[in-house]
Amino acid sequence: MDASETESEGPAGGRSGGDGSPSGGSATGVCRIECSVDWPPGHVAAYLIPGPEPILVDAGMAGERSRGELVDGLADYGHDLDDVDHLVLTHPHVDHVGGVPALLDAGDPTVYAPAGVRERFARDAADLEARVRENATRAGLAGDDHDHAVERAVDSLRRNRELLPPTAVDRWVEGGEAVEIGDRALEAIHTPGHQADHCCFSTTLDGERALLAGDMVIALFRAVLLHVGFDDGFERAIEASAGALDRLAGRGIDRVYPGHGPVHGEFEDTVARDRERLERMVERTHGLLSAGATTAAAVADERAGGGRGIDYLLPESLSALAHLEATSRATSTIDGKGVRRFEAW
Ligand SMILES: [Zn+2]
Repeated sequence: MDASETESEGPAGGRSGGDGSPSGGSATGVCRIECSVDWPPGHVAAYLIPGPEPILVDAGMAGERSRGELVDGLADYGHDLDDVDHLVLTHPHVDHVGGVPALLDAGDPTVYAPAGVRERFARDAADLEARVRENATRAGLAGDDHDHAVERAVDSLRRNRELLPPTAVDRWVEGGEAVEIGDRALEAIHTPGHQADHCCFSTTLDGERALLAGDMVIALFRAVLLHVGFDDGFERAIEASAGALDRLAGRGIDRVYPGHGPVHGEFEDTVARDRERLERMVERTHGLLSAGATTAAAVADERAGGGRGIDYLLPESLSALAHLEATSRATSTIDGKGVRRFEAW
């Protein structure tokens, strides 16, 4: 998911924005494979690390079109789907796990996924629905918008665990773990915020320190905080994201292989920029409260500026408001309709 973004700057890349061609890839021999997605920047990238036991990091988008793109992308580098011996997943969003069924149909890769996904996928759908129903009401959603948010949360859970059945995962990876994958070690770094279980993977590729970054450290934009969506725990997305940036900063990464936008070498600058943008987003939220917005829905609406749906901005707005309250910069009360109304301090 939903890599919808916020506070983006600069050109929206499109397919040509990445190192999409086999010859135009990185200096390290990593193969970049792009699948089309219907949101900016129009693609999602998976990476094949060649070797005696080829490793694929992320699996691209779901659906027939993407399956073809994954097959063609691998073929560009002389590989078939069933050449993938190890499949490493950064987070369980549809554009990163969508190709898992194709890979499992074709071959028998060892599948690695962040440990948190196990518990998340074990979530009882009815319980999730009840929590999202209440949290969406608190956020100020009503009518169709409310129903839509509830449906989407439950549909996402069902769809994502269909794409990545927990029984298909061979190794649940903890943050901080150095995982032996094939003939190399990948260090898993827990980087929540965009998604609560998200892990980046760091390894050495041809003498360079590389980060297989998923939806972190993207050159084109800061990926929106979806974290747990409307489920309980949204309150901690800002702190979780700041902690993720802390864990990444100072690692001396030479080259970043992100899920969206080009491969790049601006690791530290991008981490610093994302931190600034996170802080700016919180300040803007405070400013919107001061200007009269009182609910998460109203804040998200203002931020969306009419041009984009507020769906993706809502969880982030909720977490920003919770953060402002936790840091004594806002207070809230629940009104007669169950809506949490904020006031800036
Ligand atoms: Zn994502």
